[in-house]
Parts: sequence; structure tokens; C-alpha cells
Amino acid sequence: MAADPRFDILFEPVQIGPKTLRNRFYQVPHCTGFGVEKPWSQAAHRAVKAEGGWGAVCTEYCTVSSDADETPYISARMWDDHDQRHLAFLTEAVHAHGALAGIELSHSGAHGENCETRQPPPAPSQIASDFSNITPKRMEKLDIDRIISDWVQAAIRSRDAGFDIVYVYGGHSYLLGQMLSPFYNRRTDEYGGSLENRARMWIETLAAVRDAVGSDCAIACRMAVSAAGGPGVELDEGLEFVRMADHLVDLWDVHIGSILEWSKDSGASRFFAEGWQLEWTGHVREATARPIVGVGRLTTPERMAEIVESGVWDLIGAARPNIADPFIPRKIREGRFADIRACIGCNMCISKGDVRRHIGCTQNATAGEEHRRGWHPERFDRAANADREVLIVGAGPAGMECALVLGRRGMRRVRLVDAAGEPGGLTRWVPRLPGLAEWDRLRTWRLGQLAQLPNVEIETGVRMDAAAVRAAGADLVVIATGAAWAGDGRNGITRAAIPGADASLPHVLTPEQIMLGGKRPPGSRAIVLDCEGYFMGAGMAELLRGHGHQVELVTSCEKIAPLCDETLEGPILRRHLHDLGIGMRAEAWLTRIGGGGADGETELGDAFSIEADAFVLVTQRVSDEALYLELVDAGIAGVYRIGDCVAPRLIADAIWDGHRLGREIDSPDPARPLPYLRERPGLEADPLAAVR
Ligand code: ADP
Ligand code: SF4
Repeated sequence: MAADPRFDILFEPVQIGPKTLRNRFYQVPHCTGFGVEKPWSQAAHRAVKAEGGWGAVCTEYCTVSSDADETPYISARMWDDHDQRHLAFLTEAVHAHGALAGIELSHSGAHGENCETRQPPPAPSQIASDFSNITPKRMEKLDIDRIISDWVQAAIRSRDAGFDIVYVYGGHSYLLGQMLSPFYNRRTDEYGGSLENRARMWIETLAAVRDAVGSDCAIACRMAVSAAGGPGVELDEGLEFVRMADHLVDLWDVHIGSILEWSKDSGASRFFAEGWQLEWTGHVREATARPIVGVGRLTTPERMAEIVESGVWDLIGAARPNIADPFIPRKIREGRFADIRACIGCNMCISKGDVRRHIGCTQNATAGEEHRRGWHPERFDRAANADREVLIVGAGPAGMECALVLGRRGMRRVRLVDAAGEPGGLTRWVPRLPGLAEWDRLRTWRLGQLAQLPNVEIETGVRMDAAAVRAAGADLVVIATGAAWAGDGRNGITRAAIPGADASLPHVLTPEQIMLGGKRPPGSRAIVLDCEGYFMGAGMAELLRGHGHQVELVTSCEKIAPLCDETLEGPILRRHLHDLGIGMRAEAWLTRIGGGGADGETELGDAFSIEADAFVLVTQRVSDEALYLELVDAGIAGVYRIGDCVAPRLIADAIWDGHRLGREIDSPDPARPLPYLRERPGLEADPLAAVR
């Protein structure tokens, strides 16, 4: 029962085949960068969600055959006994907290780069992957039969490893979805042509897996019911497939989009509101009476209850919301709604998990650190030096997070002081950039949590210099003064300032001058110069376009905002900027800025000049380290620094850094991160002997 009876419905058990979910909270499969390579991180990351109350917790995509080797990405694998043993750690850890464990068995088909195994990827037809541009092998009947058999073997291993839910995954245009797709499937045999033929391999796989493990495990089918314009099927055929396969499925896990258009499924908050997929996935009930799970970056219990009550889905699926807060179900049950650390929809978890190969989250610094650093999202031990008073200078994301951890660790007194009129640092103004309003949750959630801690005081409008820090008399001092955009155009391309770039001039501006200082570009034509390739350059361009300027975004990167490709925003963002009439010039650089125009050079060395009235410099940030250096140089002990003040970085990493210092404030040398547990093969004959 929930503390608030309106949400009792979310805590009802649900039967899926032979298994019972304890409630309606379902962690759909999501990537971590762990796979079977980091089994302990994998197990601990999933176990925390089970502890937080989720009814089921799943792996990421887990391939069944060696010709579905996802390298350079890290997926799970269920190829052999070794994989089975590694994934069994997960089921054991998840079961210990009363949740079911699900495994997303998959085959990549055309998308598999197979960098490790060097096998050609098998696909319905010899059509290059729209994601990896690899030309695959057209499957012979032999291949089809062998892959179905691999799937069955993987399902048996999954059952034996303790999994309760076994997927026959064809979502995101993976192999079975490729078979269903008229784009990928151009076959003329019994596996191509009509929907019935295109569905044949998927249905045969479902039937074979069901025969093998269906009395022991629930069979889940995950599919894109609408490719939303990408390669795949649209809603009419999607629903028809659900009807055709329904007798073989215990749980429908439904989404939209394809691998290249994954951005439509795991939509960033910049472009997609919570629950947007319901427009398509809300129709699946028309085709099945079986349990349905869907996703939509849902974080509020009201919306979750409304969806279940409406009958469209039975289970509330989540990947990102439970990365940001693994304890959502428990917090809802206990009525602790304000404590929910709501996902901001930035997709940094995807960038970190997929591309950088170890999951991390902007909101939740503990995501991915559960095993290797032993950080629990809700548990904080009392610091050995809790009798000390700490002064934190700078209430940006790093300072706020550090104060939160130190407050929770019971420090006698934590003073969080900021020169600005309100706390938040750059999170005061970044959410005012077009589309980034949800990022304000970084600030509001932290301030709400800090307000609950009697040992933390926040003071604003107080600029601290070295004398003020000394006079404050704190035992420990943390400098979190952040960084600011360079006003001279210094950058990582020329490693020098740009001649003529000087933000004290009216026609040269930095983001802070615009967002905090109210400085406005003169004239109508503005150039935004971006060397960072993330949200700031594009954000400035869109903001100024909204103010009526003619804007050109010039970047040294190979395309506009390439880092946004890692967060699934890139293609949509570039289309959006184009639709707004913003000019875009990539692989180009400005060599001189003047009043009325600038000279530049392309990557190939061709010179160009542009006429413009104003220039916004998004070239690089510079740490504000003066206060820290002054204190350290004066020999003051117990002074540390965190966040952008050390080096300008992603907000996720600044928060992580503040969290790290808070967790380790009582270590022998808090300035130096403690070593963490690394997962790597040992040289002993049987590296797992100790843990079996
Ligand atoms: P981070 O991302 O590392 O947390 P931010 O740039 O977001 O850094 O925040 C730094 C904060 O530090 C800003 O709010 C700024 O007002 C504050 N700050 C900088 N210098 C001082 C100072 N000398 N005294 C008090 N606050 C300061
Ligand atoms: Fe949400 Fe961003 Fe965290 Fe991902 S990284 S879970 S999108 S807050």
C-alpha cells in the first residue's frame, strides 16, 4: 500500500506468464557499458534498482550469437557458460531484493560491427545498416535456423542463470525487427514479402524460445510498434504483428523509432515532453489483452497512475528515470515525492554508457559507482571527521552536491556561500536556454534536499576573498568557484586567443554576459563561434535567433554540436537550427575578429570572410582558480577544490566531483580520489573461483 492511496494502483502485483511482478514499476533494458565485461558493476547497478522497489530489473541488450558482436559498443552476451556465470551475479543480486530479473536477448543483424569477432553481420537482405553503414551478409535459411537455435540456447542459459523474464527482442530495428521491416527485408522466399512472411522468423523464434523455457520464464517481446518514419513498420503493421504473435508472448514491451532514430524513443527533454510515445504505444491495447509496458521519461506518480488507470499500459517502464533515481517506487510508496531525483532528460547517461563505456548520470552521481566505489544513492555513512566545520565557496552544481553529501554525512556545520544573489552557479541560467527548462531540476532538487539538512546553511550575495575565508575559521574549505567562458577567444584549435576578440568591446560577447549581464549583441547579424561542440553554441544561436538576429553558427568541429550526437540530440538539433534559419558552417575557424566582420579559414586552409555586427565566443571556459591558489600558496591546510574550478567539464562531471570529495572528506588525502575496484581478468587459472 502507498502512503497516498491515489497511488495504490502502482503497487498492485501483475502476472506475466508463470511469474508475478510485485508491482507495476518495471526497469526496461538499458545500456550501461558493463555487459558481461564488468559483471560486478552490472550486478550492483541493477541490484540498487531492485532495492529501490522496482518490480523487475532487466539487463541491456544481450546478444545470442558471435555474429552479433556489438564491439566497439559494449553489450551483454549470452554465448557461453562464462557469460552465464557473469550474468548470474545479476540475478542473484536482484532476487535478494525481491525483484524479477529480465534478460534482453537480441541479435544485431545488419547493425553489428563485429569488430572483435570479424564475422560478417547476417541480415535479411544485403542492405547496409542505416546506423553503421556496414553491408551485411544476406542470411541463408541455414543462418536463420542457426540463429533461432542460438536464441534457444541463450534462453536456456538465461533460465539456468536465474532470469525470470526472457526477451525475444527485435526493437530498435534489431535483427527480428529488420526481418519485419520492408526497408531491410527484400527477400522473395517465405521470409519476405507479405507481413506474414516478414514476421515469420520472429514468430518462429518466439515459439522456439517459448517451447524451451516458457513454463519457467515469462516471455517478453520488445518491438517498435511504429518506426516513426525510420526503417521498420508503422503502427498498422506494428499492431497487426502484436495480434499475430500474441499467443506466444507474456509481456509486450513497446516503443517507437529505430536504431538511427533512437532519439525518438529515448527522447531528450530538449525536444520531447514526458510521455510523448503514448501517441503510438497507447494504441497497443487495441491489439492485445496481455500486459504491456511502455516508457516516456515518467517521473511523477500522478502521471504513472493516470496511465495505468486508463488501461493503455499495465506497467510503468523506465530506463532514465530509474538511472536518475533508483528509489522512485520506494519514495512514492512512502509519500516522499519531493525526494524523487527526477531525470532531466539530458541523455548524458547514453553518452557515457554507450560511447564512453561506463554509465554515469548528471542527476545521480552514484550511477555506475555502486560497485567500484561502493556509493549507494540513499545511504551515507557518518564521516570520521564529522565534528569539523566545512566552508564551501561557490554554490554551483559541484558546491551544492558536495554540501549535500557532507550534510548527509553528518558534518557539524556546512556553510555553502555564493557571491550571486541565488545559489545554482551555471544551473541558474543554463535552463533558460531554449529547450533546457527541465535541467532546472538539477538546482531545484538539490536546494530542496539541502533545505532538509539542519547542519547546512546557504548564504548568497557574499563574495569571499582569501581574508574572508580565513576569517570564517572553518576546519575544512572547499573551493567550488567554477569557470567562465574566455573573453578572448582562446581555444583548443590554435591554443591561443583570437586577434580582435575582446569581450570588453560591445560587439564581442560571452554566454555569461548575455545570460547574466544583460549584454545584447549590437546590430542584426551575429556570429556564434563554437569550439566546444555541445549545447552552449547551439543554445546561444537559437537564443539570439529568437531575439530576431540573423545568426550563423561557425564551428571548428566536423559538424554542428557533435557531442549532441552522443546524447541523441544531434540530428534533430541540426534540423531544428536549420528550420529556424540559422546558418551553419562546420570545420571552419575565425582568425581575426573586427567591428563589422571577421576573417576565417576552413579546415582545408581556404580563407573566407564574413560580415557581422556581433560575435559570441563559445570557444573554451577558464577555471576561476585564483582564490584556491591564493589559499593553498599561503599554506592553509584542509583546502580542496572541486568542479569547474579544477577544470571546466560537463555538469555531470562537476556534480560527480563534488560528490566524490564529500564521500572521501575523511580519507587520508581527500584531494586525491581513492582507488576504485577495477574489473579485469586475473592471471590465476580460474579468476572466478573466489566468488563462486
Ligand atoms: P561548478 O559547475 O563547478 O559548480 P559554477 O560555475 O556552476 O561551478 O558555479 C560556481 C559558483 O561559484 C557561482 O555561482 C559563483 O557565483 C560562485 N563564486 C565564484 N567565486 C566566488 C567567490 N569568490 N565567493 C563566493 N562565490 C563565488
Ligand atoms: Fe536522466 Fe540525464 Fe541522468 Fe540520463 S544522465 S538519467 S537523461 S538525468
